[in-house]
Amino acid sequence: MLAKRGVNQALTQWKPTADYLTEKIPHATFELIPLGFDEVTPKVSAGEIDFLITNPSMYVEMETLFGVSRLATLKNLGPDGRALTVFGGVIFTKANRSDIHTIADLKKINAFMAVKENSLGGFQVAWHELTKYGIDPYTDFKRLIFRSKHDSVVLAVGRGDVDAGTVRTDTLERMHAEGKINIDDFKVIGSGYGEKIQEFPYKVSTVLMPEWPFAKLDHTPDKISQEVTVALLEMQPDSYAAKFGKNAGWTVPLNYQPVRSLMQDLRIGPFRDFGKPSLKRLMTEYWRWITGFTVFLTFLIWLLSYIIKINRRISASEKKLTVEVNERISAEKQLAERGEALRAEVIRNTASLQHLEKIRKFHELTSLLITTLNPKALLQKALDRVVELSECQIGGIFLYDEKSQQVRPYVFHGVSAKSMSAVGLGESLPAQVIADRKPRHIRTLPNECALTVDFGLWKSCPKELLMLPMLSKESALGMITLGSINGFAQEDIEVLSHMADQISIMLENALANEEMERLSTIDSLTGLYNRRQLNEFLDREVKKALRHHHNIGLLVMDVDHFKKINDDFGHPEGDVVLVAVAEALRETAREIDILGRFGGEEFVAILPSTDLAGAKALGEKMRDAIANLDLSPHCTRPVTISIGVTALWEANAKSVQQLVKQADQALYTAKATGRNRCCVAASDGVQ
Ligand code: GH3
Ligand code: MG
Ligand code: MG
Repeated sequence: MLAKRGVNQALTQWKPTADYLTEKIPHATFELIPLGFDEVTPKVSAGEIDFLITNPSMYVEMETLFGVSRLATLKNLGPDGRALTVFGGVIFTKANRSDIHTIADLKKINAFMAVKENSLGGFQVAWHELTKYGIDPYTDFKRLIFRSKHDSVVLAVGRGDVDAGTVRTDTLERMHAEGKINIDDFKVIGSGYGEKIQEFPYKVSTVLMPEWPFAKLDHTPDKISQEVTVALLEMQPDSYAAKFGKNAGWTVPLNYQPVRSLMQDLRIGPFRDFGKPSLKRLMTEYWRWITGFTVFLTFLIWLLSYIIKINRRISASEKKLTVEVNERISAEKQLAERGEALRAEVIRNTASLQHLEKIRKFHELTSLLITTLNPKALLQKALDRVVELSECQIGGIFLYDEKSQQVRPYVFHGVSAKSMSAVGLGESLPAQVIADRKPRHIRTLPNECALTVDFGLWKSCPKELLMLPMLSKESALGMITLGSINGFAQEDIEVLSHMADQISIMLENALANEEMERLSTIDSLTGLYNRRQLNEFLDREVKKALRHHHNIGLLVMDVDHFKKINDDFGHPEGDVVLVAVAEALRETAREIDILGRFGGEEFVAILPSTDLAGAKALGEKMRDAIANLDLSPHCTRPVTISIGVTALWEANAKSVQQLVKQADQALYTAKATGRNRCCVAASDGVQ
């Protein structure tokens, strides 16, 4: 029970009703719990009470929030003992206020007084009425005063403390009846409702509201609720419960919709935030959406920041990339420029290197030729090197033989000797080149060219020929022929011409050297080997024969009485005789035999692979040849020779000295036994 006027008053007024119900419903006991305004909601929400008696506005709030439902409505006691189930508010001013006649007139007033902010009859119904005239008591009145007690409000208006006020219906009539006021001193405004409600015995300015309800809580069983309802409706006005309760009992529950509408319009009670979205309500009703939206929003923010971050990173790397690309472009440009310069440098260097290389090889050739004294070896080496240097494929060196007036192929590279043949001067290109003493560059060759380049699988004619004469101061030595399948460059021809000159000089040297060597071994008068050379040959041949077990024959010859020839015909004629003897011996000797002049008028023949008999036979032949010489007019005396014959095996000689000694002994014998004869030396002495 809402203890509107305190706990004691509530217990006094309403405990009898609880006792009445306990009495009426024997299986249940009803206890009255007086509640302050602030205690109702916690008790109801906790379900700690089963039934609730409260004012209409709180009932609507509890009904809205906790499903409390009304069982009956209180019947109030009217002035003449009539039961009243409704009540309202009265708005009044002093009767002598000529400026206030209607509610609309209140707009101009300063001060307005009401009972309590949460009092339905004492303020809220009047407030509701004022809003209908466009008056907001909170903002339009300069002063809005609450006075807690209905009587105080009436008295304050009566005293003129405030311009107007409002209290619950029946207050003015009751105070008048109690002698506290004269009701005529007051003017009730906006009493139009009173006319409509004929039955209502009091002055009224507002719509009427149902009286207090007796309600059950949501958890309270229907059965006991029904029993309570029946008991309440059965309560008589004269019952002790009604008497203590100062009411006329209870009636069927009225419609509390007017109360609800009023609270909704004024946005009070459960409708305090009506139309305004409250956070809690939003949270309760839309928590899924809000959570989803929050998650989505968070995701969006994260995505946005991620995109921004990525964007920043991309633009940073783009910037970096642009810088790198620019750097690269400029580096490439620099590189290209540097490359161009380098290329030019390389071309220059390559050209000079190639030139240097040619010079180097040229010098190499010179030094190579200097160290080679054998003309054939020298020319072969020179040709090989020239072919290599000129990067051609074939080559040959032809030598000019002054005696036979012929150009003879001498050394070759890449071609066979067969394809070369000796040609007479003036008959062929090589001969022409030698005769002209000028190089010749032949760019077109006949298809059937004798010179071919052998590629292994096939043979091909060279594309070009280069012919370089080899010249000495006085005469032509020969010529170099080179054949190339690629052709010759002009600057190479110049270099090669120089090389040919160089080779010519070297060849001349070699030839001169060869001649000198030849001269040092030859007897200048007879053209036979001299004594030094004969000794060398003897030494060599004897050693060879001993090693290989060959025999070797030896003839030692001496012109008989030569002194006399000199004496008779003179020394020069004596020389002629010596030359003629040498020529006769040379003609008689075989090709393998080695003939020499041992000194003065003595000759020696070394006969390789010849035994004593062979040697003797040859000796006889020689003796005979000399004896038959006709040397007139130089010498009219008969010219004869005595010959000492020996052979290695037969003489059982172990050295050159032993062999020569035996031959000498045999010669001595020949001289001693009559001259113009051939004597043989035996191993055990001379025969
Ligand atoms: P024998 O039959 O004993 O050999 O008598 P011979 O006169 O031939 O021998 P001897 O040794 O007495 O004389 C050799 C001479 O040969 C002496 C020398 O003047 C001569 N004689 C040596 N060398 C040459 C030369 O190169 N030319 C010429 N014309 N005479 C020479
Ligand atoms: Mg002699
Ligand atoms: Mg002699």
